[in-house]
Amino acid sequence: MYKEDELLPLSSLQHMVFCPRQCALMFIEQVWDENRLTVEGRIFHERVHELGQETRGDVRISRGVFIRSLRLGIVGIADVIEFHHQTDSDIWHPFPVEYKRGKPKADDCDKVQLCAQAICLEEMLGVTIPAGALFYGQTRHRFDVAFDENLRLEAEETAIRAHDLIASGQTPPPVYEKRCESCSLISECLPKTIQKRRSVKTYLMRMLAEP
Ligand code: SF4
Repeated sequence: MYKEDELLPLSSLQHMVFCPRQCALMFIEQVWDENRLTVEGRIFHERVHELGQETRGDVRISRGVFIRSLRLGIVGIADVIEFHHQTDSDIWHPFPVEYKRGKPKADDCDKVQLCAQAICLEEMLGVTIPAGALFYGQTRHRFDVAFDENLRLEAEETAIRAHDLIASGQTPPPVYEKRCESCSLISECLPKTIQKRRSVKTYLMRMLAEP
């Protein structure tokens, strides 16, 4: 169990899955660059949170809900938690919904973040949450995500890796990949330039080491 002052932002898990270097730049080096996509994303989330609470039939909707897990060591704000009324037991069952400005991604970073939200709620409310949903603003599409064993394991391992990385204080070197083109920190990270410099340095060191 982590202590209150050891908790990491929930979003660090999403950045960790996307790229460990991005996670380190943000949470070790405190680098943050606002670009069009991050500004649009922030406004999108603020609009969701401003809508407050409402009830639609058998669904109660809470927005901008504070959540945390001492087991994962994370804290954050859930965009939307729907409470679905189970008529047989008269229980309002939590169902987290995460809003994303863009479109579904190739990796699991959004699913891991959503699953981590569910683990927070399970710990706070003493319930089991089998599924939640992701909503993407660009495609106006919402789809359910099952919190199966594999996804839960991925969320737990990602939390451990994020804690270890940030505690190490060491930012990993860049590895230029396709994902870099959609990274908000590409101009601070300079993956192509640093990678090239590193390979020249490695080459020179190898030459000098040869008899
Ligand atoms: S530019 Fe690429 S290597 Fe650098 S932080 Fe972003 S995704 Fe990671």
